[in-house]
Amino acid sequence: MATAPKERKAALRALASETFDLLIIGGGVTGAGIARDAALRGLKVALVEKTDFAAGTSSKSSKLVHGGFRYLEHAQFRLVFEGTNERALLMKVAPHLVRPLEFLLPVYKHDKPGLFVLDVGLWIYDGLSKFSSPRLHRTVRAPRVGKIEPGLKRDQLDGALLYYDCATDDARLTLENIIDARALGATIVNYTRAVKLVRDDRGDRIIGAEVQPVDPNDDGATLAVRAKVTINATGPWADDLQRLAGDKTILHASKGVHLVVDAKRLAPHHAVVMKQKKRIVFCIPWGGDRTVIGTTDTFYDARPEEVHTDAEDVAYLLDLANNYFPEAKLTPDDVLATWAGVRPLIKPDGDVATASDVSREHLILERPGMVTIAGGKLTTYRRMAAEVVDHAGTQLGALAPCATESRPLPGAAEPIFSAGYAGVTQLSERLAAEGVVDGAVAKQLAGTYGARAPSVVARVKAEPTLGERLDAELAFVMAQVDVAVDEEQALTVEDVLGRRLPLLLRARDQGLGCAERVARRMATRLGWDDLRTRREVEDYRRVVAGTRRFRGGAPRV
Ligand SMILES: Cc1cc2nc3c(=O)[nH]c(=O)nc-3n(C[C@H](O)[C@H](O)[C@H](O)COP(=O)(O)OP(=O)(O)OC[C@H]3O[C@@H](n4cnc5c(N)ncnc54)[C@H](O)[C@@H]3O)c2cc1C
Repeated sequence: MATAPKERKAALRALASETFDLLIIGGGVTGAGIARDAALRGLKVALVEKTDFAAGTSSKSSKLVHGGFRYLEHAQFRLVFEGTNERALLMKVAPHLVRPLEFLLPVYKHDKPGLFVLDVGLWIYDGLSKFSSPRLHRTVRAPRVGKIEPGLKRDQLDGALLYYDCATDDARLTLENIIDARALGATIVNYTRAVKLVRDDRGDRIIGAEVQPVDPNDDGATLAVRAKVTINATGPWADDLQRLAGDKTILHASKGVHLVVDAKRLAPHHAVVMKQKKRIVFCIPWGGDRTVIGTTDTFYDARPEEVHTDAEDVAYLLDLANNYFPEAKLTPDDVLATWAGVRPLIKPDGDVATASDVSREHLILERPGMVTIAGGKLTTYRRMAAEVVDHAGTQLGALAPCATESRPLPGAAEPIFSAGYAGVTQLSERLAAEGVVDGAVAKQLAGTYGARAPSVVARVKAEPTLGERLDAELAFVMAQVDVAVDEEQALTVEDVLGRRLPLLLRARDQGLGCAERVARRMATRLGWDDLRTRREVEDYRRVVAGTRRFRGGAPRV
């Protein structure tokens, strides 16, 4: 058996026996960023996540690292300033994960604002980023737009604006923060739920939480974790912890849905910005073979874990895509996969007309022994984390300054990445030249793991059957299942196929074809018996069916 189960047991023992400076509840990008920031400042850190890292909103975003051009309409200059400047910073510390993406914003004759005003807006956008965009924006006249974005509706087209933001892998960005925080000494466990806050004898100070490990191989006994400061970083679940603390609720959540279609059906050359009234929806090329359409933005008041894609969400997004790309004629049968997430937006003071009008700013609240963070964006997670640790510092005493601005994430910790994203190309060429894996696999490994990719190739070299592909069409290999379990704390088939690797969203069969092979391989490393192995495959089938609920009737799995 591999070392992962032993490490988990040791981490759970440490949770029960030690006293931590910080106990972070929630392993989305916010909690993961806080754990890394705090561990880097020398604090003794624990983090518990009730399911898997990034299983909440942090794997359900549009996967963009951006300033949010549309926020300029609401004069939210600070948000844009922070977003665009974090974008520049993340391109330096995580160039393998945060890659430039060119956007095309088409403008039609009846559109308001028109081409001129949008051009001015993009000058402000570039300016607020301190001109750090991979390339400054530019205006393109209608005849040329037809050439550079051939499928786009041309009727009444006035022109388009081209500008840059970045694309990322949200789940992996979260995971790299977890990996680094662990390397820096943090005690981090997934599948461990905070069920109760613990108070001091007088009842006014929170001194930790009772947590319950929920993996079937755990004994399920509740543990009391002691911490000087407990952090509520539970995203859309933040109000659950607020209630446990006896504090006011703070969220007004919204739901967002994305659809994945085959690039053979729709293959924009840019990330195209589509407008419907005041809303913006993107049509984003993804990995050369898929296109993502999203997102919706509708108020949501059910439990976050119940969020799913409805037929209306699909109709709304396909109508918009078909309007902008009339030749595509997409139907629900073209949808290969969907994902739905909940934005943990902060309740506005006054009334707002739509979910899109609610600010994406974050909020930090403090009470003795506890700090709550909610709202914000994936893009600004690093900055939010620094602020939260500073707040906790007021209760902890003297604290070293934040040091995440200059420390590369683990996948970028190699001189080759000082060249930015070009480092991925150089690394993949170097790996392909070794002749152990083919060029497509080398490229995928370099893009997924960055500096850690050579160790994955070494696994294949040592055991050539690990070079077997998980899906004939996509370049993911069996060695990555071992990496997920041994190095990335994956504990279920969904952890592997849904977040460590994106087959759930990208494979034509959403990973159903390889789920059994993956489960069998995981069983050998995690000590599962036959029953658990079979259950894992059944659970994964249910996850896939959940993403297809919009089709109605019995799930077609
Ligand atoms: C549709 C959509 C599109 C978006 N697109 C973008 C984008 O392109 N760019 C961008 O910058 N931002 C985007 N965002 C926003 C961004 O995704 C979120 O701000 C961010 O992911 C929130 O992270 P989080 O860690 O706060 O929450 P989460 O990722 O939800 O993490 C909270 C975690 O807490 C855990 N948890 C809850 N209760 C407990 C408990 N009792 N014990 C232990 N653990 C618990 C949950 O399981 C969960 O994993 C988008 C959001 C949505 C919904």
